[in-house]
Parts: sequence; structure tokens; C-alpha cells
Amino acid sequence: MTSASETMRGVGPTLPPSVKAGATRVRSAWWLARSRGRLDPEGVRILFYHRVSDDEDALAVAPRRFREQMEFVAAAGYAVIDLCKAADLLAAGLSLRKTIALNFDDGYQDVAENALPVLDELGFPATVFIATGATEGTASFAWYERQPPLLTWQEITELDRAGRLQFGAHTITHPNLLALSGEAARDEIAGSKLALEAKLEREVEAVCYPAGLFSDRDRGFVADSGFRLAVSCEPGVNRPGIDRFALRRRQIDRADSLLDFRAKLGGGHDSPLPLRGVYRRLRYGERKPKGSSRALARASLR
Ligand SMILES: [Zn+2]
Repeated sequence: MTSASETMRGVGPTLPPSVKAGATRVRSAWWLARSRGRLDPEGVRILFYHRVSDDEDALAVAPRRFREQMEFVAAAGYAVIDLCKAADLLAAGLSLRKTIALNFDDGYQDVAENALPVLDELGFPATVFIATGATEGTASFAWYERQPPLLTWQEITELDRAGRLQFGAHTITHPNLLALSGEAARDEIAGSKLALEAKLEREVEAVCYPAGLFSDRDRGFVADSGFRLAVSCEPGVNRPGIDRFALRRRQIDRADSLLDFRAKLGGGHDSPLPLRGVYRRLRYGERKPKGSSRALARASLR
């Protein structure tokens, strides 16, 4: 059994799980009352997970729940499309409806064991973001006392070739980029692209900021490194005009009921939880939102 410490740095729950679960419930109930369960079909929502496992771990969604969620997506008539394709269609100005993309962060082995069979069954693609140093064994995730098994390079290259799962970069050591010097941040970003490309023998287009933490500087490094898109952990819907280096995503949590999942899919959780910004600034030294992409984010928060 593994456990994710609440004092971990750089990723994972941004609020204590019980507080987060309670706040999520309230929001989902409010969404249901407001929408009567109608899913907002506009734009592309990106849903992300870490592990799919029965382990007692704040980052693990139970396989039974994962299946239930994916079957709901299929029954509700959603198209699940590749993340890079989604970014391209949005950049081309297409107004997508009832479309989502799926992500798994960090490259845990249980994603192949427990999520992949469901994705195969339903024909859903997904992107898996790996920190190349963690995969290599030269870095480890600081929030685990005992880190769950990660996919090996051999598994990653085979899965990537098979095509259901596409792999993207997640830096080398999974640092808080905001705490790094410019040179170190650039090395983490560009280095993970090179390391992953050497293994996959193809161009790597997508990168995920660890814990969604990044500045305009880091966004610049991503663009300069040749990535074609980057995902954050800012919740919300992606519409044409979205910054392709700051795509929004909503995390599916271990404690989420099917109603919580429906509300996240349907637009009931498109803005951050109240006080989340304050919490993250205190915890990570994240600066106040600014810049054009943030202005866009504010404009869409309702
Ligand atoms: Zn991560």
C-alpha cells in the first residue's frame, strides 16, 4: 500500500482531501440544481487522472469508479479525442461540442493495468505524461514514502507504438518550476522532450507542467523547445482562442462520486475552488494570475 503525503511538494491534491471532497460535493449539488443534470456541450474539457488503483492513495481512482466514469462518457455520446488533435482543432477555430480528452500524469503502471483495458474497450485515446528522470530511476516523486511502480521504458515505447496511449513530457525530475532558475527550468523542459523523443523515436508534442505550476518564462521555454501544446491544472473549458501552451484541465479525484464526475464533465467545476489561489500562493509561491491567457481564464469563469 502506498500513501500520498499531504506535505508533498509539486503535485497532487491542492487542498486536504476531506475539505476538497466536501467542497466538491457542494458544488456538484449546486450544479445539479442549476442544470438539472444537463451537460454543457460546448468546447473541450480535458479530464486528468494519476493512478487507477484500489490502493489507499489520494492520487488513485478505484478501477470500478474509473470504468463507471468512462461508461458514462460513452453513454452520454461524447467524443474522446487525442489531446494534440484537440489542440489543433481549437487552433483552427473549430467550435467542438461534446468532446473531451483524457490525461494520466506521472506514468504509473496501474494505468496500463487498470485503465487501458477500459479505454481499449471503449475506443478512447489518452495521453500519459511522464517525468523522464522518474522513469529512468534517477529521480523519485517526493510525495511518496514508497513510490508505486512506474511504467518502464520498454512498456512506454511498446504502448506508444500501439497507439491507444500516447506519451508526453512532464519534465525530468517533476520539480516546482516556479522555484527553479531559468537555466534549470529550461533544462527540465527541453531535456524531458529530448529524452522522451530518443526513446519513442518520434516527435513529442505535448508537455504537462508539474502540478500545473508555471510562469510566463516557463511557457516561453515550452514554446522555444518545440512543443506544440502544454497543459496546466487550471480548470475550465477550452474553446477556440485558448492559449495552446496553457490548456485547462480538471482533475478527477479519488473521492468523486458519479455525480461529481458528471458535474466535472458537464461544466459544474469550470472554476477553481474558492481559496485555492490563496492556498497555492502560500504553498508553492505561485504568483497572482496575470497576462492574456489569465485574462481569458477570468473571462470564462462563471
Ligand atoms: Zn505530475
